[in-house]
Amino acid sequence: MDIRGKTAIVTGAGRGIGKAVALALGREGMNVVAASRTLKEVERTARELIELGVKSVAVRADISVMEDIDRLADTAMETFGGIDVLVNNAGVLMADGIENLNQRDWDLTMAVNVRGTAFLSRAVMERMKQNDESYVVNICSTAALGAKPEVTSYSVSKYGVTGLTEALYKYGKAHNIRVSAVFPGVTDTEMLQSADMPCTPDMLMKPEDIAYCVLFLLKSPRRMVVKEIVPWATR
Ligand code: NAP
Repeated sequence: MDIRGKTAIVTGAGRGIGKAVALALGREGMNVVAASRTLKEVERTARELIELGVKSVAVRADISVMEDIDRLADTAMETFGGIDVLVNNAGVLMADGIENLNQRDWDLTMAVNVRGTAFLSRAVMERMKQNDESYVVNICSTAALGAKPEVTSYSVSKYGVTGLTEALYKYGKAHNIRVSAVFPGVTDTEMLQSADMPCTPDMLMKPEDIAYCVLFLLKSPRRMVVKEIVPWATR
């Protein structure tokens, strides 16, 4: 896909992997809609992009809230006239082992990681149908390639994102919308610091590594199925 001059929505673009993806897409000449719940953080991302000469807008949006999903998609349409790429990166992780599962953390994890990703994808894909080609990339996790019992709801949610990716991939075919997922291993972000996941320095990736994978997918002329994407670190 030729992404220069096209428009991307990146969720969770205020820090970590999402911010790295937003900056990488901007450097490639994309207009970027940077979204998250914390407006200050996405405003900083948008400012950095504008300083690079890129068109960018920050949107405060909680993807677990239906009204925010529609407002985010509408803002992108009104600002840039279309949406070509959606990077579903926003996610939360709770340290809930099997023995301390609790309903609040479980519901929040599913509402953000699974339901938010699904409903935002639906809203954006509806608007993508006017395009010749479009792309949805879901940021999944190696926790969906082998569940981690110390983060139970997170692992289950990322298996959900894998299934969702397959469903969206099949649905998107008829509308020239490609859909893939990347499965990062441990990556040096605030989420990792809060999770206390065991990891050796040689396993630890940088957010920019994941951004590079997203760019690779977008620029590849080939239609890839989710299961063909290689996990980016061993467990
Ligand atoms: P992070 O530093 O905690 O960033 C998460 C981002 O998501 C933040 O910008 C956060 O902003 C946003 N977010 C959270 N809940 C949201 C909501 N309801 N609506 C909108 N935005 C929301 O985490 P990260 O490590 O960069 O993670 C990014 C993605 O990569 C996640 O999907 C995560 O599961 C995945 N991943 C991470 C790792 C890792 O080791 N770090 C490994 C595999 C996969 P607000 O809180 O301001 O909304």
